Amino acid sequence: MEYTKEAVRVGPSQHGLGVFALHSFATGDYIGQIHGEIVADPEYGSEYGIDLGDGDRTLEPAAPFRFLNHSCQPNSALVICDEKNEDGTSLDPSVWLEILSKIAPGEPMTIDYAWHADAAIPCQCGTAKCRGWIMAEEELDDGTSKT
Ligand SMILES: [Zn+2]
Repeated sequence: MEYTKEAVRVGPSQHGLGVFALHSFATGDYIGQIHGEIVADPEYGSEYGIDLGDGDRTLEPAAPFRFLNHSCQPNSALVICDEKNEDGTSLDPSVWLEILSKIAPGEPMTIDYAWHADAAIPCQCGTAKCRGWIMAEEELDDGTSKT
């Protein structure tokens, strides 16, 4: 997996800043690793923070991928890779951006934020599959899981 610095640019979008492809990408391409600060605090929450899946660590992404916008029909996704050292101990998980569907140069790149219901805000992504809220699909019809 190779990180191409010139793969994307950050620019103004419909919703503040956004990330735009500088050339075309094919389904399954990995655009690059998402770097940033890892916060080891289970109480930590932020608008852009990426839950690393172990319950207490969040990656606060740095530019450019900090500016990925949400879509209910995203063309990209975050992939969390758990890596091990040769002696079997865990390395910090790394986060990569994978392309879900073909992207043309200049197109905005989007991910599904899949927020918890208690953080949901109305969605304006405008795609055919818009759920109306920026939140995880599996939490949408389950109002009972709210705490
Ligand atoms: Zn939407």
